[in-house]
Amino acid sequence: MIAAIVRGFAETAPRTGIDRPDPRVLDAMRAVPRDRFVPPDQRPYAWDDRALDIGYGQTISQPFVVALTSQLCDVEIGTRVLEIGTGSGYQAAVLAALGAEVWSIELDEDLARDAKARFAELGIRVEVRIGDGSLGWPEAAPFARIVATASPALLPPAWLAQLQAPGRLVTPLGPVGGVQVLSVFDKDEDGRVERTDVLPVRFVPLRH
Ligand code: SAH
Repeated sequence: MIAAIVRGFAETAPRTGIDRPDPRVLDAMRAVPRDRFVPPDQRPYAWDDRALDIGYGQTISQPFVVALTSQLCDVEIGTRVLEIGTGSGYQAAVLAALGAEVWSIELDEDLARDAKARFAELGIRVEVRIGDGSLGWPEAAPFARIVATASPALLPPAWLAQLQAPGRLVTPLGPVGGVQVLSVFDKDEDGRVERTDVLPVRFVPLRH
């Protein structure tokens, strides 16, 4: 898995401008048992560099995409992060392994319940809420980082509103079936926002 991630960074470097993974991200991904985040029949493939089915029509992203997303989140110990789309909980677990304090919202009740149980079993500290992530988590806002792992067609206004200044939002953006782009929105101290498109990607759609 690690070799494939390193290769992924090298191959996409002309687009992303990032030629290698941060060693801290690789350490975090080594530390999180990816096989525990996929259904039993997918375990043999858990460490392959590809997206996997996690049931309920949803997927856990390919490790390279998780690594890139995590690196773009640029977290330190204690960084407050809101994740939209808990899914299996894997992306949240990697951010937690990097030291972030993570709040994560999942629309699907079954997935949210499974992810909560998994975090408890593995001793991972992530707050999970069932709900529509396009509304953010107002009671816990503001967040230094917001990361979405389901793609909205248009940016939900609540996300930028709940982003701290300075802060960073990492999200796929674009219609289902169309071209989505993994995008970074940087908010400066004065609240000005600048968008950078990083890489074409394919995420599941953000549902409303
Ligand atoms: N981060 C996850 C990836 C899950 S795929 C992981 O590491 O496994 C995206 C997830 O977003 C799915 O579980 C889907 O149910 C969820 N989702 C879709 N629309 C949503 C919404 N409006 N609010 C919250 N979660 C949503």
